[in-house]
Formats: sequence, C-alpha cells, structure tokens
Amino acid sequence: MNLNIPESEKKRVVIAGGGFAGITLVKKLDSKKFQTVLIDRNNYHQFQPLIYQVASSGLEASAICFPLRKIFSRKKDFYMRVAEVLEIDGNARTVHTTEGDINYDYLVVCAGATTNFYGNAHLKEAALPMKTVEEAIYLRNRIIETYERSLTAPEDQLEGFSNLVIVGGGATGVEVAGVLSEMKKYAPIKDSGRDLRAKVKIHLISPGILDSMSDNASVKTTEALSDMGVNIILGRKVVDYMDRTVIMDDGSTIKSELLIWVSGIKAVTIKGIPEESIGRGGRILCDGYMKIKGMDDAFCAGDISLTSEEAYPGGHPQMAQVAMQQAALIAGNLNAMHDSGKLKQFKYRNLGSMATIGRNKAVADLGSVHLSGFIAWIIWMVIHLRSILGVRNKIIVLIDWIINYVNFRSSMKLLLFRGKR
Ligand SMILES: Cc1cc2nc3c(=O)[nH]c(=O)nc-3n(C[C@H](O)[C@H](O)[C@H](O)COP(=O)(O)OP(=O)(O)OC[C@H]3O[C@@H](n4cnc5c(N)ncnc54)[C@H](O)[C@@H]3O)c2cc1C
Repeated sequence: MNLNIPESEKKRVVIAGGGFAGITLVKKLDSKKFQTVLIDRNNYHQFQPLIYQVASSGLEASAICFPLRKIFSRKKDFYMRVAEVLEIDGNARTVHTTEGDINYDYLVVCAGATTNFYGNAHLKEAALPMKTVEEAIYLRNRIIETYERSLTAPEDQLEGFSNLVIVGGGATGVEVAGVLSEMKKYAPIKDSGRDLRAKVKIHLISPGILDSMSDNASVKTTEALSDMGVNIILGRKVVDYMDRTVIMDDGSTIKSELLIWVSGIKAVTIKGIPEESIGRGGRILCDGYMKIKGMDDAFCAGDISLTSEEAYPGGHPQMAQVAMQQAALIAGNLNAMHDSGKLKQFKYRNLGSMATIGRNKAVADLGSVHLSGFIAWIIWMVIHLRSILGVRNKIIVLIDWIINYVNFRSSMKLLLFRGKR
C-alpha cells in the first residue's frame, strides 16, 4: 500500500500526471504544508509544442524531455512514482495504479488528453498520431521509411508514396505540413536516380485552418502554406482509411502510404470518476475552484478538465497556459486551505497563441495585436526556447535550430526501426 511512500504528519496531495499542469502543481505546493506524490506513466516531462520537430528529424527526443525527479530534486517531502493510474476510489480516498494503491487527502487529476479517432477502427489502426514523444519517434521513422521505400517501389505504386496526407488544421497540422513541405526538398529521394521531389505532394485536410486563432492568422497561414506547395483541402473531413487510400466525406480519395492524424483529442479516461461528472470530449466537469463535481477533495486541471467562465462559456481551450494557470490556482487554494485562508475561482488570462509555418514564417495573436512572418517567427522561437525545461535542453535546441537553419539538411534522418507495412 502507498507505493512505499512514508507516512507523514502533513496531509498528502496525490497528483496524477506530470505534464504542464502536474509540474506546476508540484512547484507551487508548499512542502511545509503538504507531502506531495506525483504519479506518471513516464519518468519524464515532455514538451509537446516541439514534438513535431522530433517527428520531422529536426530535434532529438531527449532535447524536449526532462526527468521529472530532476525538476524537483530540491523539493522536500516529494515523491515521484512511475505507474499508470487505473482507477480512483473517491469513498476510500485511494488511487489504484499498476504498481499498487495509494491513499490521498487531496487528489488532483492532471492526466491530459489523447488522440481522438472518433471511433473509427481503420484510422486507429493505420493513421499516425503525434501526441507523445514515443509517437513522434515512430512517425519520424515512418516518414523516413516511406521516402526510402519510394526509391525502389514499383512504378504503379508510386502515387501512394508521393502523397503525404495530414488531417487537422490546428497549429500542429500547420506545423507538420510546413516542415514536411520543407523536408521534401532535402529528403533522401534527392540522392537517387529516381528524383520524386516534383511529384511529392503534401495534402492538409481540415474543415478550417487555425480556426481558434484570428482571421488574419488563418488567412496568412493558408496563403503561406499554399505558396510552399501544400495542397489545402478545406471544408472536408476524412472518414476512413482503407487499402492505403484516404477517404473523405464527399467520397473523394487520395492514395497515400502515410496518413498523419492530428485532427482531435479526447480526455484520458480514468475509471471511478462519477459518470455524471464526465462532459464533452470525455473531460471531467469541475466547478470554478477546479473541484471535480460529485467528489470530495478531488480536483482536476489541464486538458482533462472542463470548466467555464463568462468569457469561455463552452470551456477553455486545451492549451499549456490554461493547464498551468489552473494548476497554479489549485495549488494556491490548497496552500490557503491549510491556513483557513480565502479561496479563489479560476479566471483564465489569455497570453495569446501562435503557430509556426516554416522557415522565417509564423503567426501570432497577442491580444489585439496580430503578427505574421519573420517577427512572429522570432517571437515564437524565443517563447519556446524560454519554456523548455533545463539549461542543457535549451542549449541543445538552440544549437540544433542554428545548424538546421544554416545547413538546411538535418543530420538526423536515420531509419532506426521499420514499421509494419
Ligand atoms: C503536438 C502538440 C503541440 C502542442 N502545441 C502547443 C502549443 O504550441 N501551445 C500550447 O499552449 N499548447 C500546445 N499543445 C497543447 C498542450 O501541450 C496541452 O494543452 C498541455 O500539455 C496540457 O497539459 P496537461 O498537464 O493537461 O496534460 P499533459 O501535458 O498532456 O500531461 C499529462 C500527463 O499525464 C500522464 N498520464 C496520462 N494518463 C496517465 C495515467 N493513466 N497514469 C499516469 N500518468 C498518466 C502523461 O504521461 C503526461 O505526462 C500541444 C499539444 C500537442 C500534442
């Protein structure tokens, strides 16, 4: 019981998930007031905003991952356990994990979200998601493998190798489309007798482009991607993928060996949360204090949570800033509860949103200021570099960016394992 964690006179806060919300909570909880236990299925924190650069061979995975224990090496009465959270028993105040059970005085669920294939078994089986570092490494190998196989594929199969299809027009879809369209110029196909560069086509399929950003960002991005040769198919949905053929809702098809699925997310499912507390997209319904509806002393933050305020009646966007601000509020309220202080309700402070399109190109909405092009790209780089955990990681990312910028070719296009065909 209790995952080999010593009993303490202090109350125990168990945090399920060490993503943006989880690490903010650990940082902000006062260790003089609480024992803190963090449970994650990985022993590292992953910086999702740069995952697409791992998938496109721009960065090594270790540059965007940081060991969770190292972040909190100086925190007192803090314990980290690598385990999968399976179920919560609110009555017994117990979390069941793959490594055993643990009791809590307070629980905060921060398990984030996962890819949503909307119940389509073919898509789940064959389309490539990009939500975790593991998936990004797999995708990277599949992209390189597709290029390599295109060199020897029979002529009648070349169409499938020439079409790379991305589904989803949010920031991630835009970033992947942009980087792939740049990558195709320098891919291994250049080194062969069979030069497919003119034939390779990047298709981006989505109901809209950057719909959650300003019209300016959406228009500028659509123009920039089109100029880069991306075929943007708007207003359509992908409904199936069979025999290496992408099928859209109007019946039109594209032959493709590689279907990248960044089209939607749903909350991670944790058993034991009352059914009536589960809302849209599987998200856990919370009140203004981020307390889970129908549960005592259990809170929720980040992508897995759903709460609303006047400015966001349908819920907040599933973004890192929201997760961090919600976690900071919960930590502040728990610290205050310990001293019988006043509790605060969540109010999201929108610091803006941005997306990078490619070399020297990005869009940024910073309040009423809408930026695009080189200046937005520089701001995007500075903000991301500042946000990556660890000095070593910052330096590695900066060096890789400089090398890739000057050199154009990434040296990391190694095919480390082969996917199933
Ligand atoms: C490719 C990509 C790019 C993105 N780019 C941006 C961006 O540019 N800007 C932005 O603001 N947002 C971006 N986001 C969204 C942002 O990453 C999320 O909103 C943010 O990570 C949410 O934080 P979180 O703490 O709720 O969840 P996460 O950061 O996803 O953390 C969840 C944690 O819970 C763990 N976990 C999950 N289930 C279990 C379980 N059952 N047991 C144990 N541990 C578990 C996971 O391992 C993970 O560590 C991006 C997301 C992706 C996928």
